[in-house]
Amino acid sequence: MTTVEHLDVLIVGAGLSGIGAGHYLQAECPWASYAIFEARQAIGGTWDLFRYPGIRSDSDMFTLGYSFRPWDGDKSIADGDSILQYIKDTATESGIDGHIRFDHRIVRADWSTDEARWHVTAERTDTGELVEVTCGFVFSCSGYYRYDHGYLPDFAGMDRFEGTIAHPQAWPEELDYAGQRVVVIGSGATAITLVPAMAATAGHVTMLQRSPTYVASLPARDPVADLARRVLPRRISGPMIRWYKALTTQASFQLSKRRPELVKRLLRRQIERQLPAGYDIDTHFTPRYDPWDQRLCVVPDGDLFKAIRAGTASVVTDHIDTFTEHGLLLGSGVELEADVIIPATGLELLFIGGIELSVDGRAVDPATKLTYKGMMLEGVPNLAVAIGYTNASWTLKCDLTCAYVCRLLNHMHAVGKRQCTPVNRDASVTPQPLLGLSSGYVLRSADRFPKQGSRFPWLVHQSYLRDYRALKLRGVEDDAMVFSNPIPTPATVAVAGRS
Ligand SMILES: Cc1cc2nc3c(=O)[nH]c(=O)nc-3n(C[C@H](O)[C@H](O)[C@H](O)COP(=O)(O)OP(=O)(O)OC[C@H]3O[C@@H](n4cnc5c(N)ncnc54)[C@H](O)[C@@H]3O)c2cc1C
Repeated sequence: MTTVEHLDVLIVGAGLSGIGAGHYLQAECPWASYAIFEARQAIGGTWDLFRYPGIRSDSDMFTLGYSFRPWDGDKSIADGDSILQYIKDTATESGIDGHIRFDHRIVRADWSTDEARWHVTAERTDTGELVEVTCGFVFSCSGYYRYDHGYLPDFAGMDRFEGTIAHPQAWPEELDYAGQRVVVIGSGATAITLVPAMAATAGHVTMLQRSPTYVASLPARDPVADLARRVLPRRISGPMIRWYKALTTQASFQLSKRRPELVKRLLRRQIERQLPAGYDIDTHFTPRYDPWDQRLCVVPDGDLFKAIRAGTASVVTDHIDTFTEHGLLLGSGVELEADVIIPATGLELLFIGGIELSVDGRAVDPATKLTYKGMMLEGVPNLAVAIGYTNASWTLKCDLTCAYVCRLLNHMHAVGKRQCTPVNRDASVTPQPLLGLSSGYVLRSADRFPKQGSRFPWLVHQSYLRDYRALKLRGVEDDAMVFSNPIPTPATVAVAGRS
């Protein structure tokens, strides 16, 4: 009989969150054995996968970086390579990399209450072999979208186009667009990053959008952070800058929600100052929704507007009728000629990396579950999920989640319980969409994601300050969390053996 390896904790994914989870487990739960199963051959997740020109963060690195390892790069909005290096350095410095098993895609996890453990099946992505392990707790840090392909609408006539089509999620390394006519379809964070980056060498770049997005220009370097780092020791400047960025981001989000008209005016004024007089801001930069109904896009040092001013980039607001041999025929009847078309049409969202779950033989449909504290699923024991904020840096929430999971594990370890299950006993809690954004990519997948409830602990705060209080300053015991399944003592084992 082959013995199956058992781990106290199994982390899914070696991206920004999975490496953070590894750090917390090592630091806070030294008693726990753990491994990180990573489907790909690399550390870094998003920051390794995406290779398009100009790839960068669109939130500040002081909050996208870990609280335990303050970001010390020059720029607040940083390029993809520096972010990837930061994640790799974090993993190697404390030996987290030694716990990673690459090419292991977790496909199933089956919880057994009798055994108080998950039976996990992973598929080797290099050999196709199936690997079985058991673990006491699954911590999914698998991000929120499919890795095998991005979202690509079924545009009419795509196969007629004689030029090159390159999706940002599968960027062809060899693509040479110098001097070429490029059309970038979309106006989300990726399109807004690609346009100025490609405009530096392309003949011309057109950003073709169906409808406008809010765009805010921020300095790539943060002067307050620069000053703090010059005058204060790192151990003080690190947390101080992180709090300053977390609170100012939250304040600007709150202002957008409470005074949308004011924020619209401020954003418009900023754009007016950066575009030539007479530019049609109403058509190209005035969205139909309120700020933060969808993610607000950030451009460092106004790079998008600089490219528009220089005439190397332009914006067209129209819809695509069909691809043609030479470009795109638009709804207005205009034909946009192109050598290269980049559909920056987004991601296809995926919950917990597509892992099939069951509890005691019953399949779990995550879409029917409420999330507990934005990190666990109602009725599903010993499973946590790192889901970041949609209105602030992902890591702000994931850091809190990692620390909370460690407290939960330490609590169970201390009281001799092997199972923790969020249970909703409040019939008046109503389900709501988990990700409170009206963006197309969120709406397209809402029916496959769990829901949040109308009241805490089922409600997702989307607020660092409130989560800090709820997850860091309060205990892990509450009315909704059931601790069960005591560790068997020699006496109970003997009794069970006799019955
Ligand atoms: C282009 C782009 C730019 C972004 N910029 C920002 C930003 O500026 N600020 C911000 O807050 N957020 C940003 N995000 C969101 C970003 O994904 C998160 O900030 C963060 O990188 C997520 O880290 P993660 O480790 O949770 O997930 P990921 O980076 O997605 O990593 C997940 C890892 O899990 C692995 N995995 C998935 N499923 C399985 C499985 N079943 N078995 C084993 N392994 C699995 C994947 O291979 C991957 O390595 C951006 C996203 C994109 C796509």
